[in-house]
Amino acid sequence: MSEKEKEIQKIFNDYMAEIIADGAENETLRVALKRAVNSYRGNLKKALELFPDSIDYKEKARKIKEYSIDHLEELIDQTKKAVERNHGVFHFAKDADEANEIIADIVGKPKKTIVKGKSLTTEETELRQYLQEKGHEVWETDLGEFLVQIRDGRPMHMLAPSVDLTREEAAELISKITGKDLPKDRIDTSVEAVREFLRDKFTKADTGISGANVIAAETGTLFIIENEGNIKVAASCPDKYVALVGVEKIVPTLEDAMHLVKTTWRFANYVVPSYVHMISGPSKTGDIEKTTTYGAHGPREFHMVLLDNGRLDVAKNDDFKELLYCMKCGACMYECPVFWVTAGHFGKKYPGGIGALWDAFVATGMEEAAPSVYSCAICGRCKTRCPLNIDTDKMIKKLRKILYKKGYTPAILKEMKDTFFKG
Ligand code: SF4
Repeated sequence: MSEKEKEIQKIFNDYMAEIIADGAENETLRVALKRAVNSYRGNLKKALELFPDSIDYKEKARKIKEYSIDHLEELIDQTKKAVERNHGVFHFAKDADEANEIIADIVGKPKKTIVKGKSLTTEETELRQYLQEKGHEVWETDLGEFLVQIRDGRPMHMLAPSVDLTREEAAELISKITGKDLPKDRIDTSVEAVREFLRDKFTKADTGISGANVIAAETGTLFIIENEGNIKVAASCPDKYVALVGVEKIVPTLEDAMHLVKTTWRFANYVVPSYVHMISGPSKTGDIEKTTTYGAHGPREFHMVLLDNGRLDVAKNDDFKELLYCMKCGACMYECPVFWVTAGHFGKKYPGGIGALWDAFVATGMEEAAPSVYSCAICGRCKTRCPLNIDTDKMIKKLRKILYKKGYTPAILKEMKDTFFKG
């Protein structure tokens, strides 16, 4: 490390000492994260004892991702053909703005009701906020994401967006929006209150929106893992269903997709999720004269919006393409010593060390990501937990060199420290 690089690192070490000290003083954040980390570790241990072959999933999962990222453009083409064959509508968005515009066009005139499933990709494009600005009523229907929405916050973990909240804080927030006086020491009553509150939104919604965990190119099938059942309803009740998905989620076959789905849920902490949806097009029936007719009980319209936003360039970059292997299972966050005390404050749109890389190359650009890149402890614990064996450390070190060469001098970093982090 050169003297100047050391100087930059020192600024961020000082910053980290500051936010770690803040985190250590934040009693509720500490309690919430401790409960979440313990629960994650306990559940994963249980899952690995019940299904010891899960460890063997990793190697095959990595091979599938390596192949897919090296053949991304042809897989996108294959997916497009499959979606159109299935009577769906295929869209390709080069960046976040284009993705939001495409989806706003699909939704139509203002004052529509939209129900959303949790999706990091929609966080990346800030889709909810965009649609609200267009005059629509938009509801996050995943409980953690609903809590993010009602407190006007941002997700603190890839899979558990409100991991920083205790049950007491959650009950207070839900009491406010539902007008019920919920007991603070219980979780079940909070869950029930949100269930009741969102019922009516689901039934009157015009459009349902979600992301997806994996796409199988051969059939154009989306695979979506969930537990709450909110995506099941959001993708079934409204007339229109839209999936916004990053292009890196495509793999060649249904079998490959199912393998990645299993690997994701196992390392995301589930013995088995309550639901895995496979969606390949609009609702249809062939019950009269075996003639396929579209628009039965489910959505009449199916739209798949694939998002590039820098991913295709990363796929061609041998130093960083490993970033696109990430399945967003969130396992690495529970091993990260910086995340333990800061939660999603370590990151801008994507949290954690891997999130710093996603921010830099995809979600926010290098400048905004620089503080997170320098905040990573480079301890390597994330790699030991990652089912894809992603070497986040190695990429962070390379990215620091690039940032330095791009002119992110100590003076600029100092300024960023005061604006970005406090914002
Ligand atoms: S880097 Fe690995 S452990 Fe972390 S979210 Fe991505 S796939 Fe999961």
